[in-house]
Amino acid sequence: MKGKFLEYYRRKLASLRPPSAMTEREFGFLLFRERIMVRHKAFRDFKVFTDSLLSLVPSDVYYSTAYYRQPDLDMDQKGWLGSDVVFDVDADHIDTPCKETHDMWACPKCKETRRGKKPTKCPKCGNEKIEEKAWLCDRCLIAAKEEVLKLVELLAEDFGIRSEQMHLFFSGHRGYHLHLVSDKLKTLDDVQRKEIVDYVIGLGLDPAEQGLYQGPQDLFLENGHSVVIGPQLTDPGWRGRLAKGVYRIITELDQKQLIELGFRRGAALQIINEREQIENEWSKKILWSSFQDKWGITDQIWRNVIEKALTMMALPAKIDTVVTTDIHRLIRMPETLNGKTGLKAAMVGLDRLEEFDPFSEPAVFEGTQTIRVMEAPQLRIRDQTFGPFSDEKVELPLSAAVLLVAKGVAMPES
Ligand SMILES: [Zn+2]
Ligand SMILES: [Zn+2]
Repeated sequence: MKGKFLEYYRRKLASLRPPSAMTEREFGFLLFRERIMVRHKAFRDFKVFTDSLLSLVPSDVYYSTAYYRQPDLDMDQKGWLGSDVVFDVDADHIDTPCKETHDMWACPKCKETRRGKKPTKCPKCGNEKIEEKAWLCDRCLIAAKEEVLKLVELLAEDFGIRSEQMHLFFSGHRGYHLHLVSDKLKTLDDVQRKEIVDYVIGLGLDPAEQGLYQGPQDLFLENGHSVVIGPQLTDPGWRGRLAKGVYRIITELDQKQLIELGFRRGAALQIINEREQIENEWSKKILWSSFQDKWGITDQIWRNVIEKALTMMALPAKIDTVVTTDIHRLIRMPETLNGKTGLKAAMVGLDRLEEFDPFSEPAVFEGTQTIRVMEAPQLRIRDQTFGPFSDEKVELPLSAAVLLVAKGVAMPES
C-alpha cells in the first residue's frame, strides 16, 4: 500500500495545490505502519511540504480548517485567527436502504460478524464497543450528493454564499466535504456555527412561524374544519422551502407514499389523476384550501405532510455537527489519497457535481493486482463491477485491489 501511495504521489506531485493561507495552517500526517498522527506541523513553503509527503508517505494527509499565528506550537499557544466553515455530508448520516445489504459490523470481544447496520450493543455478548465496517456504494454516494446539492442551494439562497466561496471535495470514502472560505465567516465561534447547522437541518423550526398553519375554525363551513394558510414557492428562506416541500409531496409522491402520509386511498388517487392540473395551478400559486376542500385532510395528515416536507428540504438531522462547530478541526487535504480506500479526495467543481463519479476520477491506480478476498460486497471501478467476493483469489484492476486491501477485507498475493 505504502509503495503504491508513494508511486502515486511521485507521479502526481505537480497537480497538488497548497490550501489558501498555507503558512497559517496546521498539517497532520497519519502514518501507515505506526497508525499514529504526526501533527502540529507547519510549512513555510509548499516544496517543504511535498518533500515531507514523499519521505513520510502517510496513509492520510490533513490540514487544519483553522488559521493560526503559529500553527506549529501547542494548541493553546497557536494563536487562533479564524477557521473555514466546513460541512461533512456523509452516507453515515443518511438512512439508505442498501446499508442493510452492504454494511457489516464486528464485535471485537466475541468475534460475532454480521451484515446490516451496527447495533448499539452486541446481541450475542452484550459488548457495547462494536466495530463498524461501513461499505461505500453508488446508492449511498448518490444520496450524499443529493444532500450536498440541497446544502449548496440553501447556503447560496439563505446565506448569500457565492459559489466561488464554496469548495467541494469528495472525501475518498462515503461522502463529501464542503469548505466555505470567507473572511466574514472565518471568525464565527462554535455557537454561531452551531446556529448555521441548526438552520440547515431545520432544527426547532416551527412551521407556524413560517406562515404555515391551520387558521381559526371557519364557523361558516358546515364541516367545521379550520382553514389552511400557507406560504408560497417564491417566499424567501424556510417559508418558500416548506412550500416547495409540500409542492413536491403533492406533485411527486406515488399513491403508496401518499397513503403512508395518511391520505385516504380516494384522495391519493384524485391527487395523482389531477396532477397535471395541480402542477399548472400550483406552480403559480399554491392552493392551500385544496387540503380541506378536496382531500379532506385531518390534523394528523397535516402534521405528517409538514414533517415530510421538512425532512425533504432540510439536511439530515444526523449530519456530523462536530465537524462544523469544531474550530480547530483537521480535515482531509484535497487531492490526497484516503487511506481507508486508496481513492483520491478529488476536488469537485460545483458546476460538475451532478456528473461527478466517485468511482472514476478518484480511482487513480493503473495496472492490475492479484489478491485474496475474504468477504466483500460488490464494488465498481469506472464502468466495471466486481464481486461480491467470498474467500477467493482474483486478479483485479489495481484501484479495486487497493480499495479491498485498504478496507481490510483482502490481502495481496504475490
Ligand atoms: Zn459480542
Ligand atoms: Zn449503499
